[in-house]
Amino acid sequence: MILRVTATEPPYLRLLQQLKTCFPGPVSEPVMDGYFVHTVSRFLDRLDDLKSAAPLLGQRRQDHYQESLKEIFPEGTATVEQVIGLLAEFCQGMPIWAHPNAQVNVIPPTTIPSITAFIAAAIYNPNIIWDEYSARFAEAEIQTVSMVSDLIGYDSQQSGGVFTFSGTGTNFYGCKLGIEKALGGRAMAEGVREDVQIIASAASHYSKLNVSGWLGVGMKNLVAIPTTGKNDMSLSHLEDHLRRTFDAGKKVGVIIATMGTTDAFGLDDLGAIVRLRDQLAREYNLAQPPHIHADAVIGWVWSVFRDYDFAANPLGFRARTLKAVQHSLERLGDLGQADSLGIDFHKTGYAPYLSSLFMVKDRRDLTLLSRQPAEMPYLYQFGSYHPGIYTLECSRPGSGALAAFANIRLLGKQGYRVLIGHAVEMAEMLRERLEAHSFIQVVNDHNFGSVTLFRVYPPGVEAQAAYRREVKDPACREELEAHNFYNRRIFQLIHDRAMRGEGVLLSWTDAYRRAQYGGKEAPAIAALKSYILSPWTDLAAVDMVARQVVEVRNQMESER
Ligand SMILES: *Cc1c(COP(=O)(O)O)cnc(C)c1O
Repeated sequence: MILRVTATEPPYLRLLQQLKTCFPGPVSEPVMDGYFVHTVSRFLDRLDDLKSAAPLLGQRRQDHYQESLKEIFPEGTATVEQVIGLLAEFCQGMPIWAHPNAQVNVIPPTTIPSITAFIAAAIYNPNIIWDEYSARFAEAEIQTVSMVSDLIGYDSQQSGGVFTFSGTGTNFYGCKLGIEKALGGRAMAEGVREDVQIIASAASHYSKLNVSGWLGVGMKNLVAIPTTGKNDMSLSHLEDHLRRTFDAGKKVGVIIATMGTTDAFGLDDLGAIVRLRDQLAREYNLAQPPHIHADAVIGWVWSVFRDYDFAANPLGFRARTLKAVQHSLERLGDLGQADSLGIDFHKTGYAPYLSSLFMVKDRRDLTLLSRQPAEMPYLYQFGSYHPGIYTLECSRPGSGALAAFANIRLLGKQGYRVLIGHAVEMAEMLRERLEAHSFIQVVNDHNFGSVTLFRVYPPGVEAQAAYRREVKDPACREELEAHNFYNRRIFQLIHDRAMRGEGVLLSWTDAYRRAQYGGKEAPAIAALKSYILSPWTDLAAVDMVARQVVEVRNQMESER
């Protein structure tokens, strides 16, 4: 055999050599390792330069998507430095969730250990489809499921869980289990061939629309139970509906209990829903009682207060805060009663997106979702953790599980009590300030999370009386809509100020709920929204919210 020796290297090899400098080195090499750290550090410096008094990085750009449609796939390479510079540009306009003046939504600032977990996953690229591809990242998932079981009151010897693609994903899992149970485990193989209901409150998250549509039960099988004035599911309506359904011999796959609604932090009475389900199952001799899934993606973290000593109050929360937390805990202390539940660490858990955990009380339920290993011939020849047999995803990142694990270890119950307790305390202080004005109405005053929804009324209108009329009286529909519009303008002016670094960034909801008349045609009630999660939010920030509402309202008057 003759070996061909090339005198000159082909050009690609030179380029390959260059491209290698774009990756972290596979073996320890101080110069290359230093380059990586230096690159990240330079990048962070550039972002730091974008910080100002405003709660966002640099500036927001307006109306530029048309330009984006002209982008073409580049021919050549760029340098690491060029792309890092570009990435810094693309961080422009991002709200800084940790900023005391960012009270936008249920979006948390992220802790350093949870960020580090994402870095670890980004570099080493674990795939928790299998422990062979994810090593101890898989163990982090298993340990987190155990720790969360302990927190909420599941028996970790029996429970199970997997991280999935979002809170929506956790609802997918919960509903899928309910549908499989209702159809005798046949839907996976045969498809959904008959009607199965998914029941949730009218204030539940819209992801149920995706879930019912994509799982093939159809949105027409989605039942919205009316809510009470406290934004929780009306139990009498639920009971009526279930009785009518069972009387007619129809099937209910799942009842979703929302444990913290997205806008108002309404909490369904999970314990009562479970009791009702059990009682009706006996009464109607149901072969398969409906599965109960708790959509606790927001509310789960209140479980850390289950064993807080409220009498001694060692953390020194104000009385108003203690009352608020205890009130929430009356419902959120029951999470262990749900057959399954969803948790978002990327909401109230202070971890980056995505970090969502689906939990089941009885891990044997997961076999309803499993495929045969023979159908996955390229996997599972060895190793001992094979979640890919039952997960919806094939590839599943290790980042979410390790980040959740990191925050649980970092914060423990105590740390979460401090963060959430502070957020609730600041929200309560905000309410106190808003309630002092007769032209402002807090509209979720029976919900005690860290979110405050409120409406502002023009001069000459007494807020409380006007709000009562608007909610109940069809004759006040025009007034309601005019005030929605008025509030939208208030929000816009506040938003503009905040963007200039002169105020607190709030958010807006078009329909925090609907009026109590008119059925499906009921007009929406809009509201301004303050969602506090940042540990930096202090009394000064809270004062500023109340003050800017007054100032903006005055400004509107003077412009009339
Ligand atoms: C946010 C939210 C969801 C959806 O979670 P994602 O992580 O955004 O998919 C579901 N339910 C409730 C109550 C939520 O607030």
